[in-house]
Amino acid sequence: MKIILLGGPACGKGVQAKKICEKYNLVHISTGELLRDKIKQNTALSEKLKETISSGNLVADNIICELVKEKISTCQKDGYLLDGFPRTMMQANLYSEFDKPDIVILLETDKNLALSRVKSRRVCLNCKASLKVDELKNKHCPYCSGSVGTRIDDTAEVFEKRYEIYKMQSAPLIKYYGDLGLLVKIENNHSIEETFNEIIKSLSKLKELK
Ligand SMILES: [Zn+2]
Repeated sequence: MKIILLGGPACGKGVQAKKICEKYNLVHISTGELLRDKIKQNTALSEKLKETISSGNLVADNIICELVKEKISTCQKDGYLLDGFPRTMMQANLYSEFDKPDIVILLETDKNLALSRVKSRRVCLNCKASLKVDELKNKHCPYCSGSVGTRIDDTAEVFEKRYEIYKMQSAPLIKYYGDLGLLVKIENNHSIEETFNEIIKSLSKLKELK
């Protein structure tokens, strides 16, 4: 199964992606993670990527596409889920040259709700667990006791910029996958479990059709 998960910044995509991948044995391909991994490698490219991301801008389509293609080629499970890709029509076109999705899920989240998620988001610098500020009893990770910090791109300013870019870029993607009959819209303003159940319903229908 090949799934594309679409949604704005901090729409809760990451959490749902993880749950879907566990249930259906899929490789979770997150462009955010792919980029963060590249940045850590300390090359000329990583310095450039770091600069681009921390100023709230987006990385070039062809670079993102290469990273995704490379990851898909090593995929050993029952398929994959693309999280944060394609973000632009250019990326969708580049992707269509080497693969196509079975379904495109659009998570629709209220903007203010998404912003409040950004403000409360933390990450463990050691084990990379995603954490929420109100769940932390002290400044250490509850899983491994590592130090906790914010992601370099988690500020309200960066969020606003990203949100505007997302709205502009996702409109043609939504139309494109809608016209292909692949798009399913899911409202994501309730609990994680409610949203996940809606997603499972859509995916079960898809499996029955196959
Ligand atoms: Zn940790």
